[in-house]
Amino acid sequence: MKTAFFQSFEDSSDREETPFRLSIVQAELKKNSLSGYLVPRSDVHQGEYVAACDERLSWLTGFTGSAGICIVGSDRAGVFVDGRYSIQAKKQTKSPFEVIQWNKKNFLEWIKKNIIKGKIGFDPWLHSHKDIIWLSEAFASTRISFAPSHNLIDKVWLARPPKTSNKVMNYPVELAGLSAKEKCQKIAEKIRFKKANSAVITLPDSIAWLLNLRGNDVIHSPILQAFLIIDAEGYVKIFCQNENLSNTINGLENFVKVFILERFEMALTKLKGSVLVDEITAPFAAVKILQSNGCKLIMGEDPIILPKACKNPIELRNARICHKRDAVHMCEFLSWVDRQNKNKFDEIDVVIELENFRRKDENLKEISFDTIAASGPNAALPHYRVNYSSNRTIETGEVLLVDSGGQYLDGTTDITRTIAIGRQSKEVKNAFTCVLKGLIAISKLKFPSGTSGRDIDAFARAPLWQFGKDYAHGTGHGVGHYLSVHEGPHRISKFSDVEFKEGMIVSNEPGFYKEGKFGIRIENLILVKNSELKTDNSFLEFETLTFVPIDRRLISRNLLDSYELVWINNYHSQCWKRAKDLVTAPTKAWLKNMTRPL
Ligand code: ZN
Ligand code: ZN
Repeated sequence: MKTAFFQSFEDSSDREETPFRLSIVQAELKKNSLSGYLVPRSDVHQGEYVAACDERLSWLTGFTGSAGICIVGSDRAGVFVDGRYSIQAKKQTKSPFEVIQWNKKNFLEWIKKNIIKGKIGFDPWLHSHKDIIWLSEAFASTRISFAPSHNLIDKVWLARPPKTSNKVMNYPVELAGLSAKEKCQKIAEKIRFKKANSAVITLPDSIAWLLNLRGNDVIHSPILQAFLIIDAEGYVKIFCQNENLSNTINGLENFVKVFILERFEMALTKLKGSVLVDEITAPFAAVKILQSNGCKLIMGEDPIILPKACKNPIELRNARICHKRDAVHMCEFLSWVDRQNKNKFDEIDVVIELENFRRKDENLKEISFDTIAASGPNAALPHYRVNYSSNRTIETGEVLLVDSGGQYLDGTTDITRTIAIGRQSKEVKNAFTCVLKGLIAISKLKFPSGTSGRDIDAFARAPLWQFGKDYAHGTGHGVGHYLSVHEGPHRISKFSDVEFKEGMIVSNEPGFYKEGKFGIRIENLILVKNSELKTDNSFLEFETLTFVPIDRRLISRNLLDSYELVWINNYHSQCWKRAKDLVTAPTKAWLKNMTRPL
């Protein structure tokens, strides 16, 4: 069996067991006089990756995607997933589970139709306060109500993996750019500005950034699962299970106190005065405890999210350095792919080979997410992940889409390249060129400060729109600094009104997918900086971080205008200059050929 170090190719779905598991959860409903029960994918931190012991949704339903919720009724169960996962969820679940596309309307209607009346239980630590209030209000004038309950899944999941306590490392200030003390002072100032006495922080990547710590509690993201309370003077209490944390925070003792996780609830009951809480991510249970203490709640965004997103000059310098190394690994990989023309190779070979190139880098700690290596019709699934049963041989005439990234000590990368395997049809080349035109439009954009993701998202789509085409995902997401590969608050999306600020790193990843046939995506990371435009107003622009050739064999030159042609030729000359002295001889020859002017 072929194996990679950071990624498994097993199909982790236990589909066959799930009808029986559902029946024992339904028996628990009866015992607890409940008409329904909510089983979300999220854990107490509302993060994208969860520990094995928190994979409740997958255990119950078989669905292994990164977002979704199941509602268990006494004789049926609905699994709600967003558009990216509808095909996967249908494959992974079996009757009596019913897969429904997630949107608020579908969710409410399903509950109304299938539960009819009675109490719907939920674990108050696994749902945000905002979500429960929304549900309670939506059902206010019906015979359905929502009731906090103990976790029914944990009660019946006999082989539930234990919660592990992993080692924590100090993230050196030479890489972080600011000391934990400086960061705490900065956040304390924001707390005072909000006229709060303290803030409750429940997001693990916020906590890792604030205290310059990195952990190993979930795959692919170097976070530690913890809660934290910081007061208006910058004094911190951190609650977590991790072994060695007390020793790791050496030097921070005069402003950071470490407690075991179980003490968090007690600490909340002791908080007094005005408390800043993130309304979108704080658990319902935490908010209820604060309310019952008589605390005045100031609902707002976690005050760490924005300073974390606006990388400081040291973080940016390191991001450029790690992207330069990652580009070398990608070039070695892409030239390897081109040398496979006469050999049979499959999607799993692609994942392993790419991981091997990255693993030669001594700064690599993990991959940023499971590599997407998708050929032919598999590439039409934007979030496809290969396993032993889906794996296919890559055939001549197809395109191969590879979306991957590295978690390096000095930064996080995320890049997608679509590669021509043999000759390509005009349809594929034209679609690829439209996607490229969208990527270029975003890359060379200059925009006034105050501009947000929804103001620019259409620039990436317009070239596709000209041909009646589009893609069903956002254009870009924020990226952390050796932290989460998907981080907020900014995005390039028609739904984002968060203003771009200097230092934010964001992905630029338009695509096109033809179901059952092929898929195309090109992705670079770009960063927001002050524009060099000489103007009275303050303008911003993007600096590209990712320099890896874009497959010239897929470009229809006649669809590019003269400015786009200049852009791609400049881009390729940069790719050549940056990597030529760092790659092996065969890759250097490949690189030279791939970066010739068009
Ligand atoms: Zn990506
Ligand atoms: Zn991405």
